Amino acid sequence: MQIEFIRQRLRALGAGPIHEQRLLRDWVRARPHDQVRRRLDDFLPKTLREALPALDAELHGLARLLSSHPTEDGAARLLVGLSDGQTVESVLLPRGGLCVSSQVGCAVGCQFCMTGRSGLIRQVTGGEIVAQVALARTQRPVKKVVFMGMGEPAHNLSHVMEAIELLGIEGNIGHKNLVFSTVGDARVFERLPQGVVKPALALSLHTTKPDLRAQLLPRAPRLTPGELVALGEQYARLTHYPVQYQWTLLEGVNDGEDEMDGIVDLLKGKYAVLNMIPYNTIPDLQFKRPSWERARAIAGRLHQRGVLTKLRNSAGQEVDGGCGQLRARAIAVQPR
Ligand code: SF4
Repeated sequence: MQIEFIRQRLRALGAGPIHEQRLLRDWVRARPHDQVRRRLDDFLPKTLREALPALDAELHGLARLLSSHPTEDGAARLLVGLSDGQTVESVLLPRGGLCVSSQVGCAVGCQFCMTGRSGLIRQVTGGEIVAQVALARTQRPVKKVVFMGMGEPAHNLSHVMEAIELLGIEGNIGHKNLVFSTVGDARVFERLPQGVVKPALALSLHTTKPDLRAQLLPRAPRLTPGELVALGEQYARLTHYPVQYQWTLLEGVNDGEDEMDGIVDLLKGKYAVLNMIPYNTIPDLQFKRPSWERARAIAGRLHQRGVLTKLRNSAGQEVDGGCGQLRARAIAVQPR
């Protein structure tokens, strides 16, 4: 369900701008029902009041919690059921973060990703993205939303942008705490600067070599790493927050000295943070995770050479490996 469609329904039921704003705000902030209803009773037109229980049920049906899988690092992976029976994953991150999915499956087909193996099944609507946040807020407070779950947000731009706008305006989430994560796409660099809410940007770089990038991310747009960083830099200067470059560290693939020199050439002096994430091994895939000590040494050297580098573990990964695996397993055990 598109958020614009929800707005139109509310208006058709007699909601004025203030009612519409209030109801959407209560939904995205997951305010407890009884409290809200008592406060709203005298405030809403009768037709709207009478229609609300059904509308509420519909909004809550957009994202239902099927199972929750806590991890030792304080994260929890949520398997979320959508209204047509499809499933996506959201991850509750430590310190109030939430990772949401923007597509069921993904068309980019990154070689090291489980989600990429299923191809694109369908888009996740703006309503379903916001519903993932509302659902997560029934579990714990959410102050930051990152679009790093299943899917490529650039391939579902209209829905992602309308969700970002509602989360940034009514959802009590600071604009730079909304993180749009993409492999890089010209449409992103056209649309994001025009939005009322300008999210922070995370760009999946993974290598400084154009040929290797084309192999690892086979259906990503053919922007070279240099072009990608130039576009990222423009956006960072516009928004006044740094671009986060994502680097999944794959042993023997993109952890050599040549890549480190390439990173320094590309990112030194840029308004940027490099997030280096040692790959989380996935059975059946050929890639290997480097040791933590080696990853720490690489990150330390880059830092010394003038690239702000953060070594990160992928929160929530210990439950089931890479993104999309929880869903893959849920499908595998579903009764037919
Ligand atoms: Fe898609 Fe992201 Fe997986 Fe690549 S890593 S296939 S963009 S979900």
